[in-house]
Amino acid sequence: MAQAAEKKSSFKKSVQDSGTGEVLGKMLSKEGQITRSQLKEAEEIQKKTKERISKIIRRLGYMDEDSIIAFLARQMSIPVTNITDDKPDPSLMKFIPWDMAKEYMVFPLRGDAKILRLAMLDPTNFNTIEAVGSRLKKTVKPSVVSEKNLADAYLKYYKIKQEEYDEIVRLAPVDDGPAEEEDIKTVDDLGSLISDAAEDVSIEGGEEIDESDQVGGAADAAIVKLVNTILIKSVTDGASDIHIEPFEKSYQVRYRKDGVLHKAMNLPLNIKLALVSRIKIMAMMNIAEKRRPQDGRIKLRLGKGRAIDFRVSVLPTLFGESIVARLLDQSKLQIDMTKLGFSRKMLDRFMELLHKPQGLILVTGPTGSGKTNTLYSAVNILNEPHVKILTAEDPVEFNFAGINQVNVRPEVGLTFASALKAFLRQDPEVILIGEIRDLDTAEIALKAASTGHMVFSTLHTNDCPSTVARILDIGIQGYMLSSALVGVLAQRLLRKICQDCKYEVKKIDRQMLVDEGVPKETVENFKVFQGKGCVVCGGSGYKGRVGAFEMMEATTAVRDAITSQVSEGQLRKIAIKDGMMTLRMDAMEKVHNGITTLNEALGKTVLVKEALPAYLLNPDELVFDDGDLIIKEGNTDRNFYQLLQGHLAIIKNGRIVGEISQPFEYFGEMSSLMDQPRTATIKSRGKSVVKVFPGDKLRQTIEDYPDIAMKIIRSLVIRLTEADKKISQMGQKQ
Ligand SMILES: [Zn+2]
Repeated sequence: MAQAAEKKSSFKKSVQDSGTGEVLGKMLSKEGQITRSQLKEAEEIQKKTKERISKIIRRLGYMDEDSIIAFLARQMSIPVTNITDDKPDPSLMKFIPWDMAKEYMVFPLRGDAKILRLAMLDPTNFNTIEAVGSRLKKTVKPSVVSEKNLADAYLKYYKIKQEEYDEIVRLAPVDDGPAEEEDIKTVDDLGSLISDAAEDVSIEGGEEIDESDQVGGAADAAIVKLVNTILIKSVTDGASDIHIEPFEKSYQVRYRKDGVLHKAMNLPLNIKLALVSRIKIMAMMNIAEKRRPQDGRIKLRLGKGRAIDFRVSVLPTLFGESIVARLLDQSKLQIDMTKLGFSRKMLDRFMELLHKPQGLILVTGPTGSGKTNTLYSAVNILNEPHVKILTAEDPVEFNFAGINQVNVRPEVGLTFASALKAFLRQDPEVILIGEIRDLDTAEIALKAASTGHMVFSTLHTNDCPSTVARILDIGIQGYMLSSALVGVLAQRLLRKICQDCKYEVKKIDRQMLVDEGVPKETVENFKVFQGKGCVVCGGSGYKGRVGAFEMMEATTAVRDAITSQVSEGQLRKIAIKDGMMTLRMDAMEKVHNGITTLNEALGKTVLVKEALPAYLLNPDELVFDDGDLIIKEGNTDRNFYQLLQGHLAIIKNGRIVGEISQPFEYFGEMSSLMDQPRTATIKSRGKSVVKVFPGDKLRQTIEDYPDIAMKIIRSLVIRLTEADKKISQMGQKQ
């Protein structure tokens, strides 16, 4: 404490604090936590708003509250307290009545005759320490507390009103302030807003206004209000993107909701320039630049410390600049993996893959398939204090505490590959690389994944097997990929049926379901639901979205297949045999469970023809030596076979009546089909290799897989023709 006391007196001499945190601000700047110009900016704002400096610094995004508290505790050698956990002594409250607590932003924790332990929002405010100390005639020992925790304690112990609570914890500015930081809560009547904006601008001269007027126009109250409303409405409507598009004769706003664009409003053409300028100002773009595309960001405050980021892109088109704003609402980011749409079983498997000590996990799907969300969720599961996580993203969409995120900027040479190289020198456990697009990135990613790092990345491919094919196409050798790969996850987003108007569709063409991949044995009980359309879902019958997933684990068989660089179709078969559910299978299960509609499942996933059942994919292979019996005349077993290698003799009544020598020829199917004992004996001549298929599946195979049925029939016909020839030859000889 001696050290702290020393610091205390030196600060006390140099600065007098009026209670808004001047000392704290100077301390942060002096110790290099914020720059001098950042402090200056905060102080300028403080002159107008009289807020606490720490609040302004937090709002400007220069430091978060946890960092400020940790800094204070370290710098002043004082403890951080959590008042409610600390079980304060309520009898002390009579010494510090509410108006005093509020004035100094303090809370009495514990005390004896001499010492009072005081929770303080700003322990650098020595005037407070002195004032409280002299009033209570005790030595005050400060602890630092967070704003929310202090407000919570006030609510609990001093029983303050909700408005008072809100006032303490709000991060938004308290004055009228610059319009873009305005605390906006409600959406006004849209129609009148639009016409107000149009009137205001037309007074200024409509389309012909020059540069300076445009800025004036952009700052117009009506335009400001309209733009705010367009942004707010997207949030309240649950949209993901806003499109503001100029056409020759119209100017329209469309919102993308659950992946579908809806027209939201028509704007008057004459506000085009003012509106674009206003958005450029908010997104800190160059308003004079009209010929080139620009990118920016808008931070919109929604009261109570909730902020929503928009990533804004402006693109010059034939009829003016088109604006797209994407909502990056942190509160909307669903990083709870159990809510993404994984089945329990698949989630368990995925969790196991995540926690492997090293390896590569790829998440794939087209743009807008939710793969970023899944990746963030996965990485967030691994986000623990002892794990160092580095990400390279293009661009960083959401910030996570405890994760080092890097924005890739190819224009200055910071590519995914160069970021990855730098990462390896930073000794991380987990690396997320936004996308693998080239050999360079792929090679380093694989190197990292096989040298003790868990590496996550994405690709733009359709499903798991094609992801492997893409990596091999890039130029990676099969053995390199197979040794590093842990698993691939492909996904799509399906619209969810509105739970308020859901009903079961009874009349369904069962054959169509079979054609679309529902297994024959379950098709009779397969359920289909949809939404009627109601107020809750705005008449669409859908509300929200859910993921459909295909997960390919790098099992031994899958690894072997990747090493030998088998075809995509072959890899798919092997993966399915090893338990992979295809996207279509998963989507159909979500249909049956009433989560999504048949239309969504059929529209967003494809039926993979190679999705054969395991018994057809990888039947047992048997090796026979010369003279070995494969089928015995008179037996009643029902299996059927396919010759892979070698020669077989067909023997009837002790005489060889034919042979089977054509590779891939089927035999033994007659008994399964006719349900009769074997009519001939079949023996191996020399060494042969034969596949065995279960006979009880033959009917189903012929019905379900016409290609295979044709091959079986062809084998049968060839054999019968040959036997026929042989018999007639024998007849001639006799
Ligand atoms: Zn509904």
